[in-house]
Amino acid sequence: MKSRFLFVTGGRIIDPFKGIDMVGDVLIREGNLEWVGENGLSMCPDGCPILFAKGMVVSPGFIDLHCHLREPGFEEKETIASGTEAAARGGFTAVCCMPNTSPPIDSPDTMTYLRNKVGLEARVRVFPIGCVSQGRRGEKLTDMASLAESGVVGFSDDGKPVADPELMQRALERSRLLDLPVMDHCEDLALTAGGVMNDGPAAAQLHLKGMPGAAEESVVQRDVELAMLTGARIHITHVSTAGSVEIIRRGKETGVRVTAEATPHHLTLTEESVSLCGTNAKVNPPLRTAKDVEALVQGVKDGVIDAIATDHAPHTLGDKAGDFNSAAFGISGLETALPVLLALVHEGRLNLPTLIARLTSGPAKVLSRVAGMSVLSGYPVPEGLGMLQAGSPGDLVLFNPDFAWVVDPSRFASKGRNTPWAGRLLRGKVMATVVGGEIVYRDDSVEMRRK
Ligand SMILES: [Zn+2]
Repeated sequence: MKSRFLFVTGGRIIDPFKGIDMVGDVLIREGNLEWVGENGLSMCPDGCPILFAKGMVVSPGFIDLHCHLREPGFEEKETIASGTEAAARGGFTAVCCMPNTSPPIDSPDTMTYLRNKVGLEARVRVFPIGCVSQGRRGEKLTDMASLAESGVVGFSDDGKPVADPELMQRALERSRLLDLPVMDHCEDLALTAGGVMNDGPAAAQLHLKGMPGAAEESVVQRDVELAMLTGARIHITHVSTAGSVEIIRRGKETGVRVTAEATPHHLTLTEESVSLCGTNAKVNPPLRTAKDVEALVQGVKDGVIDAIATDHAPHTLGDKAGDFNSAAFGISGLETALPVLLALVHEGRLNLPTLIARLTSGPAKVLSRVAGMSVLSGYPVPEGLGMLQAGSPGDLVLFNPDFAWVVDPSRFASKGRNTPWAGRLLRGKVMATVVGGEIVYRDDSVEMRRK
């Protein structure tokens, strides 16, 4: 519903970045946050829609640095419309979409197509990521400056690494001038050739070829060193091993401009899931060991891992059918991210404000540019994203951290039904999602009235 105002009342408002944790109200006006505080009903004009958030947490909308919306080219897996509807239901008010589409997003022309489509169909904010190399072939750089002017928020050949270190060095040199991150999928393809799950006893037992942690860590190490050499910003996507966390930690300690993300599945599942869930547990990088999961959770806790990103990778049933070796990699993750992560809170391994920070201000920091560094007319990220302060975008999520529900992928908004949590009881549910003051998702149980 469109309205000049929206008033959200009686929720537990949490914004770790601003140090807010209070029961109170939020007023949104003309799409932006106007006021946060206690007993604000008098500020709310007659006729203003009111969302009742008693018993719910109200936080800045979640920001996903890494998802696959599959459009253009793979509309049978996902579309802008279905993927952003899934985002809205998952509490994500902004998503960055990876450019491994067909055609890939490697030129201002493909960006124009994507932006038009987003303008017509997206339910939440979409920030595109552009390719590092033309056609994602890893040979020639794209025109990164033109891509930046057309509105990309970073560069990646995701799905694949930037294998050639010299190409990566030049990509970093250019991205530094644009003050945008290169977001690398770190994988030594020679070490993972033919691999389908984590290398180790579990793979041996299943007679499957493993992908060693060293295949990731060697490229993370290379990227950190190239970021040091060039002074550029490197963002390590979907970190999966304890070794990678250590390399990133040391990089940060020495002043390298390195940021990192981890996924809900790598933070909660191990390689054991492969024998339990079959191809729905086949992801790249693969699910690792309990020791790796522990190191990732520790990294999220202490901030070495800046952001939690879904790597939402929807596939058709056919792509995931058949034997483990031939099935596609990926999990459809937008609609289960929050409850999967809340398990860490319920188990006492992570506190709620820290979890919220890694879903809001953490990713917002990766998307924020140094003011005045260079003018990018098309830069789509609004000021104040990921926090609750006057003038911030009016992007909110309301969730009940305890509400228990059973995952039924046939009810997903996403076309991708590939999830290892099918049939599982999870605790925590998004109840409403607000983008720019507009309610883009609301559970039937959330009361709404006009003043
Ligand atoms: Zn990837």
